[in-house]
Amino acid sequence: MSTFDLVVKNGTILTVDNTLSKKRWFAVKDGMIAAIGDRDDFAGDAKEVLDLHGDTIMPGFVDAHVHATLAGMKHYGIDLLGINTVSGVLDAVREFCAKDPSDKVVYGFNMTMAKDMDDKRAPSRAELDAVTGDHPAIILNWTIHGGILNGKAMEYLQATAPKTACLVDENGYFNEDDPIAHILNLFSDEDFENFFMRVSEDCASMGITTIHALDGFWVKDDRDTDILLRVLHKLPIEIRPYTQTFDVEKIRNYGLKQIGGCLPVDGSPPQLTAAFSEPYHMAPHTRGFLHYTDRQLYEMVYNASKAGMQVIYHAIGDRAIDQLIYIYQQVDREIGIRDLRHRIEHFSYPSVRAQEMAAEMNIVAVCQPTLANFLDGPERNIIEFQLPKEKAIWQENFKIRMESGVTVANGSDAPAASLNTLDALNACVNMHNPERRISLDDAMKLCTINAAYAGHQEDRLGSLEVGKQADFLVIDQDPYSLPSGSDLSKLVIKATYKKGKQIFSRK
Ligand SMILES: [Zn+2]
Repeated sequence: MSTFDLVVKNGTILTVDNTLSKKRWFAVKDGMIAAIGDRDDFAGDAKEVLDLHGDTIMPGFVDAHVHATLAGMKHYGIDLLGINTVSGVLDAVREFCAKDPSDKVVYGFNMTMAKDMDDKRAPSRAELDAVTGDHPAIILNWTIHGGILNGKAMEYLQATAPKTACLVDENGYFNEDDPIAHILNLFSDEDFENFFMRVSEDCASMGITTIHALDGFWVKDDRDTDILLRVLHKLPIEIRPYTQTFDVEKIRNYGLKQIGGCLPVDGSPPQLTAAFSEPYHMAPHTRGFLHYTDRQLYEMVYNASKAGMQVIYHAIGDRAIDQLIYIYQQVDREIGIRDLRHRIEHFSYPSVRAQEMAAEMNIVAVCQPTLANFLDGPERNIIEFQLPKEKAIWQENFKIRMESGVTVANGSDAPAASLNTLDALNACVNMHNPERRISLDDAMKLCTINAAYAGHQEDRLGSLEVGKQADFLVIDQDPYSLPSGSDLSKLVIKATYKKGKQIFSRK
């Protein structure tokens, strides 16, 4: 009988352990790493040998912030990215609906905001009705918060949720999340299972072996979470579900130890709704919005902490982060929260004091390097649009965050940004503005061990060490061997393994 199930050898193994050591081989037993070595001296026997022929291995990526339902759903909908005319949107919808004569719900996404369309407007309900046949249809803006319903979708909403129907105007336009939750609820259980399978397969092909799925809220009664919990064991990757609800009792009944997600303490910068303490630099009439009262946040954080749950919320501007972090502090004084590792998603522009408090209270910041690099890009400079230049450099600055002692983890925010972790790795080291760049060592941690830490999973996941799960990916080159400035998104992922079993191989 072989001692090991698998040995991986003849390559560079980037362990991302405490000293970021490189190894030459490791051996797997029952899905776990059982032995590891520095030199080409593996002498045991194994049922299976993975000869790397000089390729590089690193720990499977962990993505701490994915909207799994929506990320999977995009394969079954109409991607309207980059279409800037009403006729272009209608053509795409017509083509999609013509292929399917049924009355199944149709979902479009990534639509350009009305003000940015060449026509300065979105399609109307009547125009949609002319191309959608018997399908109820919902077309979402790229921000996800808002879009258009066609007549069939509107009829359904009026019949099932008349109060929510009032949020939609006579042209089918809406700017709230509630209509979305009702219409997406038209998808069948089987559809939702397919969404989770598809996003898991996408992850495997990108070397992502674990995600934190922030779902619920966009589907009525968080029905997607119910289904996700049922199919978790069938999926090729590990998913840690976070449910976007204030209902602590419901999470207790699920048997989960984590609650929340992108529950928005404030809005988002491109919509001028992220809450800053000063007015927007280029839009001095506003400083954004807070969505919850202190009392609402306090009650949820207190009750969830008392139940031993990790709490996570979306907060971007300094005013929103302050609101949340003082609530965290109050609950910390009352019952202690440090071991729970509460999180703040985005944590884009904290006050100096909030950054110190996060470090003190062991609050994890889950940040979006890919999105930050996009916003900071030479053509866009959305970050400087919000704040004067000298202040803007503080925003999305993972280097400053890490130096202050805050644990920073990567979360893509897919489908709002690319799910591909190589894009995040590349953004971290090659960010448009050099003052935002971090070292490759730190970038590797953000995408592996720190993201595992953000989900209380670092004892099993996030690095390649004896006693941890054999979750890893095979890449064609060692990123440390490339000249600085190389585009790390061009690395080729050849295969992905979960618990020592191959879950993806590039043909
Ligand atoms: Zn999000």
